[in-house]
This record gives sequence, C-alpha cells and structure tokens, in this order.
Amino acid sequence: MDFAIPTDLQDLSARIGGFVRDEIIPLEKDPRWGSHGPSEDFRLELVSRARAKGLLASHVPVEFGGLGLGHFGRAIAFEAAGYSMLGPVALHCAAPDEGNMHLMAEVADQRQKERWLRPLASGESRSCFAMTEPMGAGSDPSLLQTVAEPVAGGYRISGRKWLITGAEDARFVIIMARLSSGERAGAATMFLADMDQPEIVLERQLDSMDSSFTGGHWVMRFDNLFVPEEDVLGAVGEGFRYAQVRLAPARLTHCMRWLGSAVRAQDIARDYATRRTAFGKTLAEHEGIGFMLADNDMDIHTARLAIWHAAWVLDQGHKGNMESSRAKVICSEAVWRVADRCVQILGGLGLTRDTVVERIFRDVRAFRVYDGPSEVHRWSLARRIAGGRG
Ligand SMILES: Cc1cc2nc3c(=O)[nH]c(=O)nc-3n(C[C@H](O)[C@H](O)[C@H](O)COP(=O)(O)OP(=O)(O)OC[C@H]3O[C@@H](n4cnc5c(N)ncnc54)[C@H](O)[C@@H]3O)c2cc1C
Repeated sequence: MDFAIPTDLQDLSARIGGFVRDEIIPLEKDPRWGSHGPSEDFRLELVSRARAKGLLASHVPVEFGGLGLGHFGRAIAFEAAGYSMLGPVALHCAAPDEGNMHLMAEVADQRQKERWLRPLASGESRSCFAMTEPMGAGSDPSLLQTVAEPVAGGYRISGRKWLITGAEDARFVIIMARLSSGERAGAATMFLADMDQPEIVLERQLDSMDSSFTGGHWVMRFDNLFVPEEDVLGAVGEGFRYAQVRLAPARLTHCMRWLGSAVRAQDIARDYATRRTAFGKTLAEHEGIGFMLADNDMDIHTARLAIWHAAWVLDQGHKGNMESSRAKVICSEAVWRVADRCVQILGGLGLTRDTVVERIFRDVRAFRVYDGPSEVHRWSLARRIAGGRG
C-alpha cells in the first residue's frame, strides 16, 4: 500500500491551493455572494480567473477541455479547491454541474456531448439535475411521480420537482421521469432539455440554510414539456441505473470539497487558539480546546482515508456503491463535527461572519441530507452487511 501522492497531483494541489489563497479567498466578502449563492456574473468572473490559470474542470475528459483526472486525482484537486467554498465554483467542479458532467461523459451520445457537455465543461454555462419531488422521489427514488408520456417523435413530461440546485440561469436540465405507458411503462428515464422553454416553470426559490451553490435551490414544474426522442439521456428505462452512475461519484466529490472546508475551519480555529489567551495561557494549551483540535484532526484524517479508499475503488472500475455510501456518512458527519467544534473554539467570533467558519457551519449541515441522508446510507449499508455482502 502506497499513500504517496504522485508528483503531478502534488503540483496540481499546490497550484490550486495557491490560486484559492491568492485569488479566491480575498473575494469571499464580495456582496455578490448572497444567501442564494454566488450570483451568475460573480461565478463567471471566478471561472475566468481559474481558466486563466488552466485549472478549470479538472475532472472533465481531455477532449472536452479538462485535465481528465480520475477519482483519486479529483480527491486531491477538489480538497484543495474546497479550502474556500468559492473554490469549486471558480474551478467549475461544484455540484450539480460536476456530477452532470461526469454523467454525460459516461452515458451521453456524441451529439449530446457536443451540444450540452462541451459548453458546460467550458464553464460558460451551468446545468441542473431534477430528481427530487415534494411528495414523490426523495430518499426513496422509486416514488418518482413526474411522468413522461410517449408521443409521436418523443415524450411529453409533466410534474413538479423541488430542491433543484442552480435551476435559475441554468442552460439545461437533466430530468428524471417515469414512462406513463408503452413497453417500458413505469420505468425511470433521464431526459435532457434546454431551460429556456415556456413549459419549464421556475415556481419559487427556496430559502435554505446553505449559500454556497450558484442559483440556490428551486421549486420547478414541467407543464407538458416536449422532449424529442434524441434527447433521451442514454437508454430509455435506465434512469435509476444512471442515477447510480452519477450519485456514487457525485456524493464522493461532495466529500472531497467539504473536506477542504473542514481543513480551512480547523486552520482558522488553530490560529485563534494559539494566539488568544485565557486564564494565563493560550486556548490551545487548555486541554478542553487542545482535545477539540485533536478530535478535528482525527475526523479530517479518517474522512480523507475513507474518501481516498472509495476513490481508489472507483478508479479500479468498480461501482463503489458501498464505499461511497460509507465515505459519505463518515465525511458528512465528521465535517459537521469539525465545523461545530471550530465555532466553539472561536467563542463569540465563531458566531459572527468575521470568519468563514460560521458560513461553513451553516452550509455543511445540508450535506447530511442531500445525496442520500445519513440514515438512508446506514440503512443500505446495514442491508448489505446483514445480507452477507458487506
Ligand atoms: C441543499 C440541497 C440541495 C439539493 N439539490 C438537489 C438537486 O439539485 N436535485 C435533486 O433532485 N435533489 C436535490 N436535493 C434533494 C435531496 O437529494 C433530498 O433532500 C434527499 O434525497 C432526501 O430526500 P427528502 O428531502 O425527500 O427526504 P425524505 O425522503 O422525506 O426523508 C426525510 C428523512 O427521513 C429519514 N429516512 C428516509 N429514509 C429512511 C430510511 N430508510 N431509514 C431511516 N430513516 C430514513 C431520513 O432522516 C431523511 O432525512 C437537495 C437537497 C438539499 C438539502
């Protein structure tokens, strides 16, 4: 077993780290980073900075302008990017675009890749992924209610989705819907559709705790939207299988980015704890604080190992469902504990927006819910373990 990071990835990590420190962190107080995420013009400015440094979309295949990193390479690059919550936005490796690019690289045909993936990969445009529904698909995707009715030349899609990240200003959407009739009636299928169509209605923007995703989160509706046959993503009836193609790596890349934020929070807390004194010594010298720094270090280390292992499994060509579920629970809960301890170490300062720790704390809470709540991953792990497949 060799834990050494290859030199090219070390170099990339150092370049991303330097870029985030020098060009992105100074912009964290920009008013264009609001409660619904960075505005689109701010995002484009961040992306153009990363493009100038040759750091854009490192996960994308080389033929589409990326660096073609594998999963382990992404673990190194995305952690470095996540040192600022704006880093993944700048490098165009934030959700949901990053997961959509991965899915399209895997299952889209050449025409679809040229039409949607290429401009997406360049950072010029954004996309969204519409699966979750108010009372339908959620933790249990089999409750999918949005329907696609087969008609001459294509499908008519109707249904309501919610919590759809980045729907505003997205150029296209990947829709998950269930066929209403025909040979594959009931089967889930993915569809590609441009967003600028009157049959796609953005009903309202949700006020959520988090604020790092461009465009925030939306309730949206498809009113009898026509999608031609050639815009089915991959094969008809394979929607749930493709969801796994997207979700296993996508939940892992969330872990990678949030790990970077946990490292940042720990750095800020350590810096404060070694400068601030109370009762005759620095805070770090008080066991109560020193132990919190140590617990943070162990949580970060454990999360990193779980990510690296799952990434390695994916790089071997395995599905990695169990490994990515495990890593997702370990990481989302570890990062949450780290953020909480950092707020505590900072005292009153931790509750203010004078440091980014307060924002990390608010943002990271959602990660225990999206891409599968902790309970659902535990439940799925438990079924595998009990079934002798663990
Ligand atoms: C910030 C954010 C961004 C999101 N972005 C997107 C997006 O871009 N596109 C998209 O399609 N969706 C998105 N989602 C939706 C997200 O994937 C869902 O919230 C998630 O899958 C959970 O579904 P739900 O909210 O319907 O919870 P529910 O299914 O209602 O579950 C509620 C709770 O029940 C518990 N539970 C459920 N099943 C089990 C079980 N088997 N055992 C024990 N407990 C269980 C869990 O604690 C769970 O948190 C986003 C969500 C958030 C919060």
